Amino acid sequence: FDLKNDDFTNLQELGQGNGGSVMKVQHVPTGTIMAKKIVLIDAKPAERKKILLELQIMHDCDSPYIISSYGAYLAEPNICICMEFMDKGSFDGIYKRIGAIDIKVVGKVAVAVLEGLRYLYDVHRIIHRDIKPSNILCNSAGDIKLCDFGVSGELINSIANTFVGTSIYMSPERIQGATYSVKSDIWSLGITLLELSVGQFPFSDSFSDSDDSDLEREPNTPSNHRDSLQVPMSATSKRRARRRSKGVSLHGGGMTMSIIELMHQIVNEPSPRLPSGKFGQDPEDFVNACLQKDPDARSTPAQLFEMAWILYSRQNGVDMRAWADTF
Ligand code: ADP
Ligand code: MG
Repeated sequence: FDLKNDDFTNLQELGQGNGGSVMKVQHVPTGTIMAKKIVLIDAKPAERKKILLELQIMHDCDSPYIISSYGAYLAEPNICICMEFMDKGSFDGIYKRIGAIDIKVVGKVAVAVLEGLRYLYDVHRIIHRDIKPSNILCNSAGDIKLCDFGVSGELINSIANTFVGTSIYMSPERIQGATYSVKSDIWSLGITLLELSVGQFPFSDSFSDSDDSDLEREPNTPSNHRDSLQVPMSATSKRRARRRSKGVSLHGGGMTMSIIELMHQIVNEPSPRLPSGKFGQDPEDFVNACLQKDPDARSTPAQLFEMAWILYSRQNGVDMRAWADTF
């Protein structure tokens, strides 16, 4: 494909993230429907060239667990990345539409993410760096694929947003400044699996009934979850935050306090867990293995592949195509 802006018709906005927005588009000369990610960058010509070169790795990916890429091009001051369109969207959108995801389907997600991570690392020596429900996509064939992996360090450097690289799915060691390893992705996978099976981000007021009973509770409704980071804050900081804004946003606006408090909690409090007894021992063991706070104690992808829940989930009888047809 020789991609250029004039050849696309915009069909629908699919969503916005930290670094840009994603559009469903049609590539008119070929009739192909694609997802086009538009990222506003602040980069010199030499850096732009390097970004495009690095993005080429995406194009070289060939795995059923990785979104395929049609290519990337510059459209000043943006960079556009054209990828396979996944018609059922991302798993954050899915659980917000249909509620908590059946644990057997979550098992399929775990298998797909582990396979995707293994492919990226074994074949291309890259670490994903941004595992979260919105970067795990589904289509009506029932395929589960990863997108938005860290192929381009230069692109990450050039995105004009302070919060790039900051994520509420970040592992304790990353928050404390350690270098990235594949174990950090495993932490993010654990948080993601908890969120999908419970239907709620784990570090939120109503997730567990443990020791936060002194806090005021606010419903963590599906619609406001995406952009408002609701974390158990002290009553004072909550009031302060509410005075400043109706939500607590990751995207700036003086709400950094809550992010710092969340990070503090991730580092200092015991890891969240699946509610005990509800989903069975195997998923609980798996999530606990992902959410070991000490990266040395956390399982490697190879160890996780051998765990009972993964062995079972590979052949658990769920028809993913039929499942994807229910919404
Ligand atoms: P984030 O991942 O932080 O939500 P992005 O800008 O990466 O932000 O993506 C915005 C939204 O676009 C995602 O939440 C996802 O639902 C949607 N999206 C991204 N890529 C695709 C794709 N290839 N096919 C369908 N939807 C997509
Ligand atoms: Mg994304």
